[in-house]
Amino acid sequence: MSSKPIAASLLPDTAELTDHDVLVGGVSLIELATTYETPLFVYDEATLRARCAEAAAVFDDGVAFASKSFLCAAMARLAVEEGLCLDVATGGELDLVLRAGVDPSRVIVHGNNKLPSELERALEVGVHRVVVDNFDEIERLRDLVSATRPLHCLVRVTPGVEAHTHEFIRTGQEDTKFGFSLAAGAARRAIDALRELSHVTVHGVHAHIGSQIFDTAGFDETIKILVDFIAEDDFDELCIGGGLGVAYVEGESTLSLSQWGRAVRAAATAAGLDPRVRITAEPGRAIVAQAGLTLYRVGAVKPVTQRTYMAVDGGMSDNPRPVLYGSGYEAFDVAQPLAARPQAVRLVGRHCESGDVLIDEAWLPESTGVGSLVATPVTGAYGYSMASNYNRVGRPAVVFVADGTARVVLRRETFDDLARLEA
Ligand SMILES: *Cc1c(COP(=O)(O)O)cnc(C)c1O
Repeated sequence: MSSKPIAASLLPDTAELTDHDVLVGGVSLIELATTYETPLFVYDEATLRARCAEAAAVFDDGVAFASKSFLCAAMARLAVEEGLCLDVATGGELDLVLRAGVDPSRVIVHGNNKLPSELERALEVGVHRVVVDNFDEIERLRDLVSATRPLHCLVRVTPGVEAHTHEFIRTGQEDTKFGFSLAAGAARRAIDALRELSHVTVHGVHAHIGSQIFDTAGFDETIKILVDFIAEDDFDELCIGGGLGVAYVEGESTLSLSQWGRAVRAAATAAGLDPRVRITAEPGRAIVAQAGLTLYRVGAVKPVTQRTYMAVDGGMSDNPRPVLYGSGYEAFDVAQPLAARPQAVRLVGRHCESGDVLIDEAWLPESTGVGSLVATPVTGAYGYSMASNYNRVGRPAVVFVADGTARVVLRRETFDDLARLEA
């Protein structure tokens, strides 16, 4: 770690650093914190739109935003406006995107245990694709599909590729709950079984090998395996899933969405894929992570012999990733973003857990302390969407900033909101 100022590459595209504030989308983060209070998620619309447009440009029609990484109505509409479809994995995600006014023909339904009610709704509204995951689902679909409710599907397969990433976010290997095994012949049997059903069109295969992947090797290998597998099929789509990594801390570097897409295309061409087959993908993190940051207010500082604890007004309820995956983040002091950061602290939250750590070793300016406004960048993915009400803490508000204005897209959760389920 370093004592240098925060790297601009970890901030949203429009971030401007001055000696006393940071502007994102032309809006002062200090003013945002004053107006909307903290903790606060701030998303730069320009970054979101640029990433969506980049994915739409490099892949073929049908490329989707993996909504589980960050979903609200504003985000769903933005992704669709920029040319993407939306992946959903539950009835709740499906319901939200339909409420947002997204055309069902832009929605792709995932899940390794789709409830009968979820499949029924997907067919009833006429989603773009269902990604079929297992034989029990095929049995369920057999009863639900009809002339007025036809099924357009992809078949999710496990190519047997070990992506180099955290065990809990690795999905391409054989030993996984997701999809049909290629090696064991299950994938071929699933395709055959689906093709026997009336009103079912199998458009192709889908594989998602994991998340937070930094190089093309796993994708290249997957493409080759899939292209060989479908050589005799007359499919019109091949989906490579999501999983492109993002840099969370200084020193990490990854591929851009364009570089990733071009590498996937090159691998498909090299493997001999029919050029008429549409190549699609479903990035989540790479679309939203860097567009977002979280603002916190420091409330307590406690030096002990070994280190200094700096407590902020959020924690594992708004960002569970450090606890779940041991993920690293950086921090900066919003009022002095250009200052050196020689002060090492353990940035912790306010929950009743010793494990409630946001950053094990965060570097901040010497004078950062109680009352300071501290930001953690690259928190746009799997933060709000994984947020909880642990300790009955309300979820933070979310604002989108663009062209000098901020708009609240999700308001802060109140005690009344929290009490609404009491019988
Ligand atoms: C989670 C997931 C994605 C998105 O993964 P990212 O790492 O956020 O890009 C895409 N497809 C499927 C099937 C997923 O489960």
